[in-house]
Amino acid sequence: MSYGQEETRQPQGSRIDAYVDQYAARARGMVASEVRALFAVASRPEVVSLAGGMPYVTALPLDTVGELVQDLVSRRGPVALQYGSGQGDPHLREQICEVMRLEGIDAGPDDVVVTVGSQQALDLVTRIFIDPGDVVLAEGPSYVGALGTFAAYQANVVHVPMDSEGLIPEALAEAITTARAAGRRVKFLYTVPTFQNPAGVTLSAARRRRVLEICNGAGVLVVEDNPYGLLSFDGDTMRALRADDPEGVVYLGSFSKTLAPGFRVGWALAPHALRDKLVLAMESAVLSHSAFSQLAVGQYLTTQPWREQIKDFRELYSERRDAMLSSLEALMPAGCTWTRPAGGFFVWMTLPEGLDSKAMLPRAVNARVAYVPGTGFFADGKGSRQMRLSYCYPEPDRIREGVRRLAGVIEQELAV
Ligand code: PMP
Repeated sequence: MSYGQEETRQPQGSRIDAYVDQYAARARGMVASEVRALFAVASRPEVVSLAGGMPYVTALPLDTVGELVQDLVSRRGPVALQYGSGQGDPHLREQICEVMRLEGIDAGPDDVVVTVGSQQALDLVTRIFIDPGDVVLAEGPSYVGALGTFAAYQANVVHVPMDSEGLIPEALAEAITTARAAGRRVKFLYTVPTFQNPAGVTLSAARRRRVLEICNGAGVLVVEDNPYGLLSFDGDTMRALRADDPEGVVYLGSFSKTLAPGFRVGWALAPHALRDKLVLAMESAVLSHSAFSQLAVGQYLTTQPWREQIKDFRELYSERRDAMLSSLEALMPAGCTWTRPAGGFFVWMTLPEGLDSKAMLPRAVNARVAYVPGTGFFADGKGSRQMRLSYCYPEPDRIREGVRRLAGVIEQELAV
């Protein structure tokens, strides 16, 4: 920066951005998500927040986790507080393979890269594959954090519609054909096949086979993002897409929902050559993941009954899902429809014709309830009649109260 420019810099705290003309083109895609902007309002205690997707970590045996961390520093401090390898702790990678076996995945620790949450895995995969303008296929609606990453790398997101059985295979095939006919390079399908965020739906077994066939046939990589897969309410765990196609799928996993997001431990399981690229990308991003976090998670998995803990989480979220669905059923005005998740954190609700979930939000917050408007989950402006409702964090009574308030707001909108 020249001295001349320095003089024109705004005083600290100014909201005017002195660098606006200097940012790289990719920074234009970096805009605050609607979810983020909402957190400040939704976190006021009088507001029932059905907005955030925070896991209920209070249900963890926190004292035990504390002891475990203390023990880790006393016994293995010099390793836990040191730099680690770019691929991640070998023992943890073995444990990750054991976790993935629950979803039918047969993989070795050599193909796993530990990342800073699965969010970083998403970033690394996108960084490796996407040049500006390349097509990423994604469910419509799709995970807001993934859309943010795709935007940051200037991907062209093409949404593929879903129904109650998840992604519609024919629409996927058509989207690939249309994009290619327009001369675009289709790089990968990004999918959250199980208990999708935000729609709460799950790709059926028959469709899983079809989606793999279509992507294989078209030479399109599948990026399977599966943070909620083990949180099924009937106890049946879906077989991962990766289980049936080790070469055609990159699988992203996370301990954020089955343990705690504060450890920031996720991973990518990738075909061998891609695994090497991921390690290099990881090293250039952060050198290595926190050894401390990795060893803490490893210690937890070794010493604690983690399968039982996941079962407890399933029961807790299942009770909250029931509280939400039964109060939606009892209270929502005619014309509202919603999904019925069999696991995970989210219900996706569609408002009656003529209503706009984003325009309605300030009135909902006035009525002390918050949700996430649907438009944030689309890269193409759709979703204005929809909203994501989360049941993971508030207690069941608060969920019922939140739905009651929301139903009141919708009634009022309809009366106008
Ligand atoms: N993918 C999906 C679908 C998610 O819902 C989330 C968290 N909200 C993430 C990835 C990122 O999770 P983390 O980085 O905590 O593993």
